[in-house]
Amino acid sequence: MTTAVRERVLALTSAELPAYVYDLAALREHAAAVRSALPDRVEVYYAAKANPEPEILTALAPYVDGVEVASGGELAHVAKAVPDLPLAFGGPGKTPDEIAAALAAGVSRFHVESAGELRMLAHIAARAVVPRRRVGVLLRVNLPVAEDALRGSALSMGGRPTPFGIDPSEADELVRALSDGEYPPLELYGIHAHLASGLGAAAQLAVADSVVTWAVRLAERHGVALDEVDVGGGMAVDYERPADRFDWKAYGAGLARLTAAHPGLRLRIEPGRALTAYCGWYATEVLDVKSSHGDEFAVVRGGTHHLRTPATKGHDQPCVVLPVDDWPYPWPRAAARLGRITVAGQLCTPKDVLARRLPVPRSGLRAGDRVVFALAGAYAWNISHHDFLMHPRPGFHFLGGGDTRGGAGDAVSG
Ligand SMILES: *Cc1c(COP(=O)(O)O)cnc(C)c1O
Repeated sequence: MTTAVRERVLALTSAELPAYVYDLAALREHAAAVRSALPDRVEVYYAAKANPEPEILTALAPYVDGVEVASGGELAHVAKAVPDLPLAFGGPGKTPDEIAAALAAGVSRFHVESAGELRMLAHIAARAVVPRRRVGVLLRVNLPVAEDALRGSALSMGGRPTPFGIDPSEADELVRALSDGEYPPLELYGIHAHLASGLGAAAQLAVADSVVTWAVRLAERHGVALDEVDVGGGMAVDYERPADRFDWKAYGAGLARLTAAHPGLRLRIEPGRALTAYCGWYATEVLDVKSSHGDEFAVVRGGTHHLRTPATKGHDQPCVVLPVDDWPYPWPRAAARLGRITVAGQLCTPKDVLARRLPVPRSGLRAGDRVVFALAGAYAWNISHHDFLMHPRPGFHFLGGGDTRGGAGDAVSG
């Protein structure tokens, strides 16, 4: 935990918990390190669905080349938060209204998911008043990936039957139609693939290499020049070993070899989780400690309706305990007596567990102590079912964000 986050968590009153605390200075530092590990010719588009908070987008803006949005809602939100950044519109099931809105907003790239969507985009673009002359298309292709590259990945959306992308067997016909000018407003910029999530640098490089090789052969078959290949996101965040970070330096060195082998190509990546997971913490306090049939439980303010990540991914969210010595009541504090404890939230469901059978720190764990969950900066608050059981929402604190909200120092809301 950064010092700024620790100090803020300890300064909050019980009534101000739970709270999401984001360290924007740490985020900027991390994003700058990622950027500098990558070759110049590799573009970074942040996948907004990982965490679209405006303060996060603003902090990332200087270090990314654009943002990947996957709905009309994300499109409008991101265009407002960071109006100067180019957008790529991806995701399955784009509605005609969303496509029209994206064209009107001057979105520079569409990641097209199917033959039907390509026709719909061409149809709407031909009738729309489009601020830019060219409507750029990257065909998202569901390419097979070598099994050994995918081993250990948490989520795979490529190389097997999924609703994502175009089947590789249909790609030639679509490239032919686009290069023959059958869809006049559209211009084929390149190929997009996002095939797996949770891959380390070596596996990501193997995926990038196979996507680029496939795309280059496709272009050669049709005698067209492909300008861009987007190899997607999915860089691993290790929730069991949070200190093990994705090796951006090794990945950057590998991408440099790939770009050197294809001098005319613009390579793009679109990470989400690996950019923002580390900058967010979910802080709360222990309300109660109890034993049940031989196990011990700490019940905290809040729970998986605020931080759903451990429930969806089936992991223990890494956390630290901050002891609080104040105890304002005349009876003794409930305290952990066993070596391990399960941390549960306030929801009336056995699924509301943030961490199972956690080793109790040497300083102990008592009612009134604070627990701060790490890696809560991505797929955390925004994927959670906030209204289930109608508990209050957490506070939101953006530290080190002097320039994000009117230059007035740390911004607080919530
Ligand atoms: C979710 C998503 C990403 C980002 O994935 P991470 O695992 O957060 O890096 C990138 N591209 C597409 C198309 C996605 O759906």
